[in-house]
Amino acid sequence: MNNNMDLEKLWQSTLGEMEIQLTKANFSMWLRGSKPIEREEGTLYVTLPNNFAKSWVEDKYRKNILGILRNMDSSIKKVEFVIGQQAPVPQKSMASTNDLATLVPAELDFNKADPETNLNPRYTFSTFVVGPSNELACTAGKSIAEHIGKYNPFFVYGGVGIGKTHLIQAIGNEIVARNGKRVKPKYVPSEQYTREVVWGLRNDRIESVKKKYRDVDVLIIDDIQFIGGKEKTEEEFFHTFNALYEGGKQIIISSDRPPQSLPTLEERLRSRFEGGFVADIGYPEYEMRVAIVRSKLSEANRSLDEDIIDLLARRLRKNIRELEGILKKLLFLQEQKGVEITKTFVEEIIEKSTKNVSKRVSDAQILKAVAEFFGVSLEDIISHNRRKEVVEPRQIAMYLLREISELSYPYIGEKMGRDHTTAIHSYEKINQEINRSAILNQKILTIKDMIYKG
Ligand code: ADP
Ligand code: MG
Repeated sequence: MNNNMDLEKLWQSTLGEMEIQLTKANFSMWLRGSKPIEREEGTLYVTLPNNFAKSWVEDKYRKNILGILRNMDSSIKKVEFVIGQQAPVPQKSMASTNDLATLVPAELDFNKADPETNLNPRYTFSTFVVGPSNELACTAGKSIAEHIGKYNPFFVYGGVGIGKTHLIQAIGNEIVARNGKRVKPKYVPSEQYTREVVWGLRNDRIESVKKKYRDVDVLIIDDIQFIGGKEKTEEEFFHTFNALYEGGKQIIISSDRPPQSLPTLEERLRSRFEGGFVADIGYPEYEMRVAIVRSKLSEANRSLDEDIIDLLARRLRKNIRELEGILKKLLFLQEQKGVEITKTFVEEIIEKSTKNVSKRVSDAQILKAVAEFFGVSLEDIISHNRRKEVVEPRQIAMYLLREISELSYPYIGEKMGRDHTTAIHSYEKINQEINRSAILNQKILTIKDMIYKG
């Protein structure tokens, strides 16, 4: 009865549900390489690429997976994971500086989040370097941890890799440290929240999603800008926000821009945000960048020459994640490969690592590469033609303008003769699909290649 086709389908639907429940990173990390191999009586055997994944999945997801399986086929009683050949996995392009994520096992840390609170113990105030650019946000955050509800909601905004996630998680961790189980914080990236709400609505489980987020004392929502424009999710969030707020619970929000610039957010939600405490995190100044490098070195129990520290701090100004990434890469190469860390070598690494995210790529280059790849004209891409042959290139163009050049949605919209909501929608659509479709992933890699090679 159970031929391979059925097995494959069954597993694909299971993965589909898991994908909605997990963060993108967790899903790719742990389940993407899985494959069903056989079914024997009530037991389904699934392969995972290595022992590490196996014990993780068994530990964290087995129950959930079995539940989903049994919902579809109640004759399944057990699911067993075995180490086996990995299914070919399309890797999302690591175009950003984080290509070292593949190099440095320590990067796996992000999976160590507590399953209840979703907080990662690595983000604490003790490892958060404070300087003029983040002092206000940090001080306010600390006093919230001491007096929950003091500033409500607390809204922090700033650029990419500047420490927003670190800060808001540090508040959560500090609250746990002070209160133990008496106070329940929960951290969630807004994309995951959105996925759960959508899943809940679709599967008639919205009540349990509601409960999950209203049953907390401190709700920490990361990157709220991704919630805007999704009506149902926003509506749901609005009600959750009000329920928590009126119940005297603390709400902490991060965003890449201030409340008044969240273009798609409903007015009533925006004014709630503006009514709280709003703090921004700016670019770190030189001294702070030096302090950050020093602190990361001491965390790792390593050292580097002063002139190398100075070089790193001078060259990497705007993105602490990037600074940290390059530092880790250097330490890795030094320890594992015995490379000598000279100034020239550091310059080279910086050059290489930042090349792909370089702003030097112009809009025109991106559009040209997309047009060339699909064999359509630039006019077609910008036109209002809805033929499938031009809709995909258009969406990919908007995706790449955002992904590579980090342009704002209003700017991208204008560039493409559309409004910002279309730009957001296109970006998000491609960003999601890229994880499901190896073909799309490959297309995008190829286009990126064309862009960088000119
Ligand atoms: P964002 O959420 O703003 O994109 P993150 O909070 O993820 O940025 O920070 C990126 C990386 O930089 C993280 O590894 C974080 O620990 C580190 N980082 C950011 N700000 C600081 C800081 N002030 N002190 C130490 N590390 C920091
Ligand atoms: Mg973040």
